[in-house]
Amino acid sequence: MLPAFFDSIVELITKTSADLPPDVRAAMSSALASEEPATRAGQALTIIAQNIDQAESCEAPICQDTGMPTFEVHVPVGANQIWMRATIREAVAEATKRGKLRPNSVDSITGENSGTNLGPGTPIIHFDQWERDEVEVRLILKGGGCENTNAQYALPVELDHLGRADRSLEGVRKCVLHAVWKAQGKGCSPGAVGVCVGGDRTSGYLYAKEQLFRTLDDANVDARLAQLEASIMDEANRLTVGPMGFSGKTSLIGCKIGALNRLPASFFVSVAYNCWAFRRLGVRLDSTTGAITSWMYRDIEKSKPMLAPELMAAGFPRTGREISLEAPITEAQIRDLKVGDVVLISGRMYTGRDAVHAHLMKHEPVVDLNGAVLYHCGPVVKKLTPEPGAPKPTGVSRWAVTAAGPTTSIREEPYQADIIKKFGVRVVIGKGGMGPKTLAGLKESGAVYLNAVGGAAQFYARCIERVDDVSHLEFGTPEAMWHLQVRDFPAIVTMDSHGNSLHRDVEDASAKVLASLRPV
Ligand code: SF4
Repeated sequence: MLPAFFDSIVELITKTSADLPPDVRAAMSSALASEEPATRAGQALTIIAQNIDQAESCEAPICQDTGMPTFEVHVPVGANQIWMRATIREAVAEATKRGKLRPNSVDSITGENSGTNLGPGTPIIHFDQWERDEVEVRLILKGGGCENTNAQYALPVELDHLGRADRSLEGVRKCVLHAVWKAQGKGCSPGAVGVCVGGDRTSGYLYAKEQLFRTLDDANVDARLAQLEASIMDEANRLTVGPMGFSGKTSLIGCKIGALNRLPASFFVSVAYNCWAFRRLGVRLDSTTGAITSWMYRDIEKSKPMLAPELMAAGFPRTGREISLEAPITEAQIRDLKVGDVVLISGRMYTGRDAVHAHLMKHEPVVDLNGAVLYHCGPVVKKLTPEPGAPKPTGVSRWAVTAAGPTTSIREEPYQADIIKKFGVRVVIGKGGMGPKTLAGLKESGAVYLNAVGGAAQFYARCIERVDDVSHLEFGTPEAMWHLQVRDFPAIVTMDSHGNSLHRDVEDASAKVLASLRPV
């Protein structure tokens, strides 16, 4: 067997989780340079840039959602794939134990988290043989927020604002633009899309995801597809969806299209959307030892820090107009806020995602949520183990949060207004915005929705002073309710208590642009 294989895979997972490849950094640097620093888009991108540099400097997850680990492995003829698969699984469990991956593998029937990232279908490992005498392992970590914005179209189809998409490259163009528009900020834009034209429903999605292994700056070998990629990039960036759906100049950082043959009766266009936290790396390994001989997508020379040190040290880019709030928060304070305000939250904050929301619909909360701040977040946490001989840690010192960005809020749309009303929650923080039911609930109950910057898990972890307690650990660490003490946690009011929603406004404005785009 290959003695260094296990360590090489752990190293690959660790670096992939913490270090964005240079092509993605370059695209995000261009996005940052294109926005005015004092705009919502500029502030969001500055936080993202800080987050990218922070994650790399401490080798911690860029985003708390470390996604579905997907390995593409090439092996020489005769390699023992059974042993390699088992060893990759062991390496995934080890990286999870070290806090480099969040436990993300959940039993689909019971909701139980395996705690190891192992389970039926997790991780995804694909093997291919090749004639070369070396092993190649490529890894992508794609999170749930952007996975939920994937889209598949069966052509011909009628699309909102674009009309009919026929079985042609023009129809493909319409589908991809529609998918980018529909995603808005929910998949943590600016994102990149991998697209498959053709195949069947299953192979189409698979091949679309495979396109994400191409670098953002490569050129398609098929001139027709190269032209289509370029025109979609141009048009998608005219949609003004912008970073996080805040409106802005950059909505898409990459478009990679491949084609598979199809049945005469089918014409699918499959779109795999990847957020800006586009974690993709690879290694080549010596086929006799398993040791890393070279890295893929990871040119250290080109992996420059995104921000100058003085900007990094400056933290959140303030304009002087920020509003500081200390939890618990009153209705009067909430009614004073309006869409566009930047708020700095201090005091107690509770996390709550899908399991907590479903639980609160049927049970009383274990804490008083009156005036509370509820954060849609599934953090990466580490249980602290004391040094030998040191006193056993209690209460606040038992846990450390190592990554804590917001999760996609729209999943809680069926519950949120009821929970706000029933328990007196005043502030909901998440990303991507919520729908009309929540907007009406905010108005009725005097609450507000704040959009934090999706994926900025290191940045927000640094706003957490300590972990005071945790409830519902039986839901697994991402789904538990963490009691956090925060200081100057920045977020933007995107839905206020007067019926205004930035998300609705940006969606409407970008729909008008979408409708005005002419066929190429
Ligand atoms: S950046 Fe956003 S979409 Fe991407 S993994 Fe993180 S939370 Fe999910």
